[in-house]
Amino acid sequence: MGEVSVAAPAHMAELRALFAATEGPITFIAGGTDMLIARRLPPAGGLLIDLSRIAGMGFISSDGGDIRVGGATTVAAIAADDGLRARLPALAEAAAQCGSVQIRNRATVGGNIANAAPAADLLPVLVAAGARLECIGRDGASRELAIYDYTPGHGYLIAQVILPGSGLLPYSAFVKLGPRQDLSISRLNIALLAEFRDGHFGCVRIAAGALGPRPLRLPLAEVALAGKDLCSATLRDFLSALTAEVDAAIPGRNSQAYKRHAITGLGLDLVAQALGLSPRERLFEDAAR
Ligand SMILES: Cc1cc2nc3c(=O)[nH]c(=O)nc-3n(C[C@H](O)[C@H](O)[C@H](O)COP(=O)(O)OP(=O)(O)OC[C@H]3O[C@@H](n4cnc5c(N)ncnc54)[C@H](O)[C@@H]3O)c2cc1C
Repeated sequence: MGEVSVAAPAHMAELRALFAATEGPITFIAGGTDMLIARRLPPAGGLLIDLSRIAGMGFISSDGGDIRVGGATTVAAIAADDGLRARLPALAEAAAQCGSVQIRNRATVGGNIANAAPAADLLPVLVAAGARLECIGRDGASRELAIYDYTPGHGYLIAQVILPGSGLLPYSAFVKLGPRQDLSISRLNIALLAEFRDGHFGCVRIAAGALGPRPLRLPLAEVALAGKDLCSATLRDFLSALTAEVDAAIPGRNSQAYKRHAITGLGLDLVAQALGLSPRERLFEDAAR
């Protein structure tokens, strides 16, 4: 077994110097919730870089234009940031529902993306919002990638997550279904970003996790809402589209019957949450019948 050496750089310049000086494999650790607690242990050799002490890697900037979130920002900080919640409530909500308090205090957005679990809670929101990642490669150079083009395990450091202002829509929501409240890995999670005015949907973007190895955009469900009036007929079409999305994503899987049923309840909660309505309103109850 090879030896692992550990480095804890204090700033980006030190990290880049480590990249330049290291020939063997490099692995990162941030909050360690996936790597240590969930026991996805680091490789048996090479350099393990602790990201938690790098100055300026944990930040949220949401004042205007693009939203920027440092790669080592904790999930708890994302859940608690009022400015971020005002502009993209779905991301704050996804963060608030991620694991327990202890997990949220350690877990980072970069780790959530790089660990790439099919049910990772931040990913559907990031995908629906068209997130881009500023990554630093082993050559020390920065490059920007669409979140969909990021492949874990290729040695890129996720330095920051960029949510382009042009991709943010005024209404958003995130809901998940897990085996237990507060400490549950999602069995299904779904995020929606939408325009909505005078009872009428404009542009709609929806992504779901745990329907495949990575989050999926749900185009049938988007089309069912986009440009339509909010009424029970629209919601019924939306629910049919959601079940069709499940059938297309996981045909023949053991979980198909369960998820095609579960996604309809989640879908109604999602629309109600995004628009600040109660899912008990008649409109939603009629659609569910
Ligand atoms: C009990 C428990 C409950 C959980 N509940 C949830 C939940 O409800 N929802 C959910 O989504 N997740 C959940 N998780 C998973 C986990 O907490 C998240 O995925 C977390 O965001 C990972 O972040 P981290 O900083 O702890 O990653 P680490 O464990 O430090 O690293 C995970 C992986 O990401 C890589 N990495 C870390 N940071 C970077 C970076 N900046 N750039 C490139 N690579 C990087 C590491 O090399 C490693 O491969 C849970 C985990 C546990 C143990």
